Amino acid sequence: MTAAAPSFDTLAASRPEWRPWLRVFAEARRACADERWRDFVPDVADTQPADAPRLAGAAITLDAHVAGDLLRAMALAAAEAGGPAATLGTARITKDVALSLLDASINEDTARVVELAQSLGADPGALGAVSALAAMPLLHACREAWRAELFEHWEAGYCPVCGAWPTLAEACGLERARLLRCGRCGSSWTTEWLRCPYCGLRDHERLGALVPDGGESRKVETCSGCRGYVKTLAVLKACAPIDVRLRDLETLELDVAALERGFMRTASPGYQLGVSVSPLPRGGLIAALFGRRA
Ligand SMILES: [Zn+2]
Ligand SMILES: [Zn+2]
Repeated sequence: MTAAAPSFDTLAASRPEWRPWLRVFAEARRACADERWRDFVPDVADTQPADAPRLAGAAITLDAHVAGDLLRAMALAAAEAGGPAATLGTARITKDVALSLLDASINEDTARVVELAQSLGADPGALGAVSALAAMPLLHACREAWRAELFEHWEAGYCPVCGAWPTLAEACGLERARLLRCGRCGSSWTTEWLRCPYCGLRDHERLGALVPDGGESRKVETCSGCRGYVKTLAVLKACAPIDVRLRDLETLELDVAALERGFMRTASPGYQLGVSVSPLPRGGLIAALFGRRA
């Protein structure tokens, strides 16, 4: 069994070069605990197609000050990593830019993030990493708001809340139920063994596993159909939603093993969400709520 999720301190001690990025991550986790994000969870239609994640097509209105403050704090923390990320220290992230970054990040629109990075004179990779973490508070708030709605019959390989491909899988408990986990919003959804979450392949002769030395508690499940892979960790209990990304970081050696053998994480989104992010109307949240009820 894999031990409990690693703490920041453990990771920072074992990988000193990650410290600035762990600080960015800490900013995202702090924001996830900020209750203001709950106010921005969008209303969603009950008439969505059966395979649509809950967030698909949503019109999100956000307090641009909250978004701007978060993105700027994270960009400054990331800049301390130096190298290409240093460009984030001077990037002028206005409220509008912050909303555009969140829009691009929630929709997993990499091309848009690159465009925004170019307009800001920032490194696209570093800005993309910051934007992905900055989307966490809203996506976690959505998962929490919708958790009462059951995803028991969710068949797709992508996240039932935010449409992302799974960050990893957990083989849970003694019965070894297979749970897919989303690092963006923290969701978990059950799925069958011997089925590729990306292409749906069920051919056991084309589904394999890379098992590193040290037993079966951590392995990489591979698909020779689409060349995708999923890291799978044996655990007694699923990790907390907020810890999925930490688990992902802690198991980077599995990604290296998969990449070395020609397997890849799929770059395109699991589902094209078509979400829009716009600022709250003038007057802020009170006015928006009042307008909604009027
Ligand atoms: Zn998700
Ligand atoms: Zn596949």
